[in-house]
Amino acid sequence: MATRFLKFDANAGGELLPQARQSMIAALDQAANPSSIHAAGRRARGLVEAARESVARLCGAGKDDIIFTSGATEAAALALSPVIMKGRERHPVGRLFVAATEHPCVLAGGRLSDRITIVPVDENGVIDLQALERLLAGCDKSAGSPLLALMLANNETGVLQPVTQAARIVREHDGFVFCDAVQAFGRIEVDVAALGADMVSISSHKIGGPQGAGALVLAGADIRPMPLLTGGGQERGHRAGTENVAAIAGFGVAAEAVMNHLKDVDSVIGLRRRLEAELHRLAPDMRIAGEAASRLPNTIMAVVPSLPAETAVIAFDLEGVAVSSGSACSSGKVTASHVLLAMGYSDEGAGNGIRISLPADVTNADIDRFLSVWRSVDQRLRPDKAA
Ligand code: PLP
Repeated sequence: MATRFLKFDANAGGELLPQARQSMIAALDQAANPSSIHAAGRRARGLVEAARESVARLCGAGKDDIIFTSGATEAAALALSPVIMKGRERHPVGRLFVAATEHPCVLAGGRLSDRITIVPVDENGVIDLQALERLLAGCDKSAGSPLLALMLANNETGVLQPVTQAARIVREHDGFVFCDAVQAFGRIEVDVAALGADMVSISSHKIGGPQGAGALVLAGADIRPMPLLTGGGQERGHRAGTENVAAIAGFGVAAEAVMNHLKDVDSVIGLRRRLEAELHRLAPDMRIAGEAASRLPNTIMAVVPSLPAETAVIAFDLEGVAVSSGSACSSGKVTASHVLLAMGYSDEGAGNGIRISLPADVTNADIDRFLSVWRSVDQRLRPDKAA
């Protein structure tokens, strides 16, 4: 019997859930423009609005707080807005503060790329709140309000950030907060209101929905960024363009399903701990990035000396196991991980990070199989080091 391909690369995007797929096919079969007022249009509108309710429930937000986008990259670009409206007040953004380990779609700065300040992280990848405080205090407020972009969970290391604490500091400086919560949804409890951020992003394909859908959640009272796409009045004027009905329908169904995944989290944590303990035993020189920090239940960034991550990823793939080198979005390029560099790893160390991200349905047998592949890869590629 052929062995099952083991996908330990959940952070790059999970499998499309069967129920999400079904809802998409049904939506494609009744293709109509949700802005049309005839019956077919109203049915399409019904699918979009049902999905909006599901995504809002997952986020603990209101239905009107959800702006559907083409994904979390677009949601970030929308949030990084040169002007933020708070009710009737217009707040130009004078400076964008970005934690050093943010996803590249946030680090790029969007429409604020000419006014970025990077906020350092400590050796575990956690934002340095004292540095944030100092940078905010020194920032020229006459140019506009500060905006902090801080992710909830890092896609490479799984390290969780103290978003609520950071938001409290930013408030003292009359600033705004955008939180990329893409990797946290479906893995840990996310209560958007409790985070204290003004805007939060979520991506469909990280929770079992299709690629090409996501949302920006408006979490602060009466907060509105300036639209990126203008013209049509879709998404209450926040995002022009005919909605991607089928993808949004699948996103909504995945949001419903993923609320149930959270009950499996303890089992994933237990299996991750077992895997970490075995890896430490098999490769005593391996380090787990951010090991001392709070992390996502499913993510291990293993930094293995003298094992370039790209070589390791190919070797694992040949044995039927998918892992990743740093973030999948940049895995086409052979570059060191900016996340590991920001955590103080050398250029070489930052090129040796193998990201192992467990799917929600991982089993003990999967961990056994992974460990046996690890042993064979390590023995082949590092014969002098492997146990
Ligand atoms: N933010 C994080 C933390 C991610 O991991 C990703 C995707 O890998 C994104 C943003 C971008 O999401 P999307 O693929 O929906 O544009």
